[in-house]
Amino acid sequence: MTEITVTLPDGSARRMPAGTTPGAVAAAISPRLAKAAIAAAVDDRLVDLSAPLQFDARVRVITSDSPEALHVYRHSTAHLLAAAVTHLFPGAQCGIGPATDEGFFYDFVVDRPFVPEDLDAIEKKMKELAAQDLPYERQMWSRDEAIQFFSQHDEPLKVQLIEEKTAGQSEVSCYTIKDRETFVDFCVGPHVPSAGRLKAFKLLTTSNAYWKGDSKNQPMQRIYGTAFFNEKELQAHLQRIEEAKKRDHRKVGKDIGLFTFHPWAPGATFWLDKGTTLYNTLANYMREVLFPAGYVELKTPLVFNKSLWETSGHWEHYRENMFLVQGRDGEEMGMKAMNCPGHMLVFGSEMRSYKDLPLRFHEQTPLHRNEASGVLTGLTRVRQFSQDDAHCFVTDDQIASEVEALLRLVQRVYGDFGLAYEAKLSTRPAEFLGEVATWDNAEAGLKKALDAAGQAYTINDGDGAFYGPKIDFDITDAIGRKWQCATVQLDYQMPQRFGLKYVGADNAEHCPVVIHRAIFGSFERFIALLIEHYAGAFPLWLAPVQVAILPIADRHLPHTQAVREKLTAAGLHVQLDARQEKIGYKIREAQLQKIPYMLVAGDREAAEGTVAVRHRVTGDLGSRSVDEFISAALAEIRNKHVPEPVSA
Ligand SMILES: [Zn+2]
Ligand SMILES: [Zn+2]
Repeated sequence: MTEITVTLPDGSARRMPAGTTPGAVAAAISPRLAKAAIAAAVDDRLVDLSAPLQFDARVRVITSDSPEALHVYRHSTAHLLAAAVTHLFPGAQCGIGPATDEGFFYDFVVDRPFVPEDLDAIEKKMKELAAQDLPYERQMWSRDEAIQFFSQHDEPLKVQLIEEKTAGQSEVSCYTIKDRETFVDFCVGPHVPSAGRLKAFKLLTTSNAYWKGDSKNQPMQRIYGTAFFNEKELQAHLQRIEEAKKRDHRKVGKDIGLFTFHPWAPGATFWLDKGTTLYNTLANYMREVLFPAGYVELKTPLVFNKSLWETSGHWEHYRENMFLVQGRDGEEMGMKAMNCPGHMLVFGSEMRSYKDLPLRFHEQTPLHRNEASGVLTGLTRVRQFSQDDAHCFVTDDQIASEVEALLRLVQRVYGDFGLAYEAKLSTRPAEFLGEVATWDNAEAGLKKALDAAGQAYTINDGDGAFYGPKIDFDITDAIGRKWQCATVQLDYQMPQRFGLKYVGADNAEHCPVVIHRAIFGSFERFIALLIEHYAGAFPLWLAPVQVAILPIADRHLPHTQAVREKLTAAGLHVQLDARQEKIGYKIREAQLQKIPYMLVAGDREAAEGTVAVRHRVTGDLGSRSVDEFISAALAEIRNKHVPEPVSA
């Protein structure tokens, strides 16, 4: 009998008969590993536990601890979902069913949209199939047989997939659950060995979908679900989903009156008065941070002749994402989708010397991107937005120190919001412009800056843009979700495209390097993050209404009006609730609006010239003079991020 050598991750090797399987390898190591095994990586390729091994190979058994495991597990659950749907809805056609970062989905063609009761029934059927521990089996069918089988079974989409994906192959990979009568799918795998391995799953929602995601194609119904290795993790995930729903910025933003949308301006926000106050607080905060750091602020045009976009390269590569406008003399114009090309023109508008560098242009004017209407979502996918954008023009020698200063700015800003974050350095991709030596130099500069700023980071090898390496920041919000916000992007290309020059110390002309950077990212998205992170309960310095003044009766109005004037003069955002409502009702409403402080005034306060202070979390704080309250509030605002006190 022929033997092969199986090399395990610890470097040890075993002789096994040719034709053995990763499942058998796992069993030979330990019964426990065999039981925990889900799939295997053979020479780094993911395969089923039953895939025969014919040649010497490196074999790593995939268990729930392996990074790839959840993906295989969830995709296997998607097959189980499709099996249940085809049982309960004869005639349902199957599309595709991939795993996602959050779970899995499967698309179907059905006669009518699924309703919540359908999901309950489908989930019940999935549990039945799992309880029977039906095996998943890979079968190689001849291509013709597979095409014939799926066309006879009224699965034209599968036929189309086979025709597109396996041209030139004689055999195609299909998977059954139990047997081809029970369920069969065209798929390359791998999957769990049997349905009994799928222990904790839940169907979540349905949505409209289209074959291949294109609205010109066959409409489909998508079922979303999620799966985990055990019930505890599943329940924790479901709780996070509930928490995320409660914090959804679209809901909270409406409840506390920050913004609205109208179908006549898709993807463009109407900032209401409170939202505008919040927006301006952030905009001015960023100015306070950037001006002392040597930035200047610009306002550049919103609409440019296409010559600008041709020079920047956007006309060729990005035009379908831009709003195009025609000038009255017929000139083709494009609304700006980013500030950089305009900043290149400003740099080039004067003779620049090395003594002017670094030159740092900051701009907050609106940008437009022509996103498909189907993907527009609240404040996170919009067509009109503004960035806390800046472009730093530097010499090669200044890259490391400029990036270090930038990293310190990011640290300071996220600290002021109490946000946790991680940094990632993305390096030279396979396809890149420029010299390898320049890239190496730039990457070394970024690493030096990260170390000097004491910034921990991970490396995303080969993930840089084609024109330069970058550092991205992921914020983790209060419920553990990641948001990509700040970015620091080195760019050698755009200054060259615009022919930018500065006169160096050597009296010769040089081309500057530009660093594109944003700390919030877009204001819109950052505000969405803040709403969801704080669940609408902004710290005092950000709260659009910081103080609610609540007179108990009409006769207390003169006193409370005087209090309002004093607070407003001190720069506080104040709301006076002069309605003839019971004080308990007014307090509850202010609480719902997540207003940090409530100042209640009745006979005693009016007589003494004081206010009774309540905090939205800690409740009654007792009587204070108005001046005392103002100075305490201003101190809290100066301190920025203050962890929310825990209710007694
Ligand atoms: Zn599959
Ligand atoms: Zn830029």
